[in-house]
Amino acid sequence: MADAAAAVSRPVTAATRNAAPRRILLIAPHDSYRTAPFLAAAKTRGIDVLIASEAKHSLVSAYAQGLHLDLGNPQASLQTILREAKRQPFAAVLGSDDAGTELAALAANALGLPHNPTVAVRLARRKDLARERLAQAGVPVPHHWRLDLTHPLAGQIDDIRFPCVLKPVALAASRGVIRADNIDELTHAVARIQVLLARAGLREAQERETILVEEFIPGFEVAVEGLLTHGRLEILTIFDKPDPLDGPYFEETYYIMPSRLDAPTQQALCETISAACAAYGLREGPIHAECRINEHGVWILEVAARTIGGLCGRLLRSSTGSSLEELVLMHALGERPELNSEAGGAGVLMIPIPQAGILRRVEGVLAAEKVPYIEEVVIYVREGYELVPLPEGASYLGFIFARAPSAVQSEAALRAAHACLRVVVMPLWKGVSV
Ligand code: ADP
Ligand code: CA
Repeated sequence: MADAAAAVSRPVTAATRNAAPRRILLIAPHDSYRTAPFLAAAKTRGIDVLIASEAKHSLVSAYAQGLHLDLGNPQASLQTILREAKRQPFAAVLGSDDAGTELAALAANALGLPHNPTVAVRLARRKDLARERLAQAGVPVPHHWRLDLTHPLAGQIDDIRFPCVLKPVALAASRGVIRADNIDELTHAVARIQVLLARAGLREAQERETILVEEFIPGFEVAVEGLLTHGRLEILTIFDKPDPLDGPYFEETYYIMPSRLDAPTQQALCETISAACAAYGLREGPIHAECRINEHGVWILEVAARTIGGLCGRLLRSSTGSSLEELVLMHALGERPELNSEAGGAGVLMIPIPQAGILRRVEGVLAAEKVPYIEEVVIYVREGYELVPLPEGASYLGFIFARAPSAVQSEAALRAAHACLRVVVMPLWKGVSV
């Protein structure tokens, strides 16, 4: 461990850079969409990325060849990481998804590498704690209420204002996020989220037993990718989410860049996200923020100490010449890629799941790929597998990628390509097994 700390604590200069390890530990759950893009980025940039995950499944893969951890046991995992770092040092430890960011912070701290305080990462991940912290720091938050599911609802919901949004405190990708316009919808949503929480495999009791309720914030939504260096935020991109997201569920669909927001609004966005990072105590590495903007200003939905989910990171190539994962890995090494931006637009559609059931086939993929400006259609779910829509679902059906001279043309191409697809689903009937 001492060796590892010594090896990386040298100031990075042109002379020492070659000697410093270009090796990064990436903590990634087994089912992560993020692993493949990070490994591709590592290959492109000649960076040695070791994957750390639970020892399961795959015999021949980056997981099998990687470091095996017990993610349920952070202290044991930390010792495994420290042993490996002693054998061969790391320049950085990153978490690909929410599940790994706290351990990454813990390990980087122990190794003397740049890191976020673990408490900051935890705050960012826990939606209820995050709201409290923002409110204390004077960052605008909607009215919100915590429901303790171990106690009767009566007495906890009397002063809730409608419309509101209910959400689990430690899930992602809009899982279990439900709008309620009245008390009946609220009690129905609580029951539905309770079932989901019981099955979601959350380790901490409080995360299984708490629902956050927030006043519904109307407005235009964006997602923002940024990099923190010693607490200073650099915005890498702003994605517009052009479809109205009014609920009752909040499926992620279109992400389009560059943003069409005007410069003052982008500036306000950047300032509010910086204030949120400072409030949580986040200082280093990637952040993914989601915000709503309305006549009252910018509202933080969340700021997570990680990159955006799914495969969206590749879109940044159109604005920077590098994928998001390349930028994040290089940033972790203290390096900056050459900027190679094209003045164009790009976008992704996370293909909506039209109904619950077994996926029979997706028709029209070739036609969709022939639509001008469409780069690729990726179908992620294999035929015969179950499609689970929101609010319970946790996986993407697939992605359509577009790159065009402008954001508007990228969005139009995605809509045209989506119109070519026919997702054939065999409904699942209760009591019938397939
Ligand atoms: P997750 O981490 O599961 O994505 P979020 O808190 O980011 O959960 O919520 C998911 C989506 O639900 C948001 O992107 C937004 O569209 C919608 N949403 C969440 N909270 C609110 C709110 N208070 N008002 C309006 N929409 C909301
Ligand atoms: Ca979110």
